[in-house]
Amino acid sequence: MKKPARVFSEVIKHLFKKPATCAYPFEPARIMPHFRGRIAFEQDKCIGCQMCVRVCPSKAIEIVLSKDQPPAPAPVEGQPAAPAKKLFDCIMKLDHCVFCAQCVETCPKKALIMTQDFELAHVDRKELRRHYGK
Ligand code: SF4
Ligand code: SF4
Repeated sequence: MKKPARVFSEVIKHLFKKPATCAYPFEPARIMPHFRGRIAFEQDKCIGCQMCVRVCPSKAIEIVLSKDQPPAPAPVEGQPAAPAKKLFDCIMKLDHCVFCAQCVETCPKKALIMTQDFELAHVDRKELRRHYGK
């Protein structure tokens, strides 16, 4: 058992020490520069190659054809009709994602971005299925 004088000196020492823990959520969290959070999707860059879907170890990502497709470009006289650019949506299951960043590193068009958003908890599981698109 510690002697009272030693306990008292420990108490005094800790009274003036910086706290070892942070006060989150009462103050903003300190996030490390390479922290891996929620994946964001840039629809305009996606070409629908499905490489992200193939590499995802937890089947957390789906790339589907968007319901709102842009109109085909106006035909230019004397030239073959140019095909319309297809738009894709991303469905992200945040309750499956392990934030490994495989999809981000694999995407050839840099359409997936790792954000530092970590406040993803929700009482309704359906809210963890995010549909990114227009
Ligand atoms: S970060 Fe990993 S687990 Fe999450 S969607 Fe991308 S590949 Fe899948
Ligand atoms: S890897 Fe990139 S470009 Fe290919 S489907 Fe996934 S998000 Fe789209």
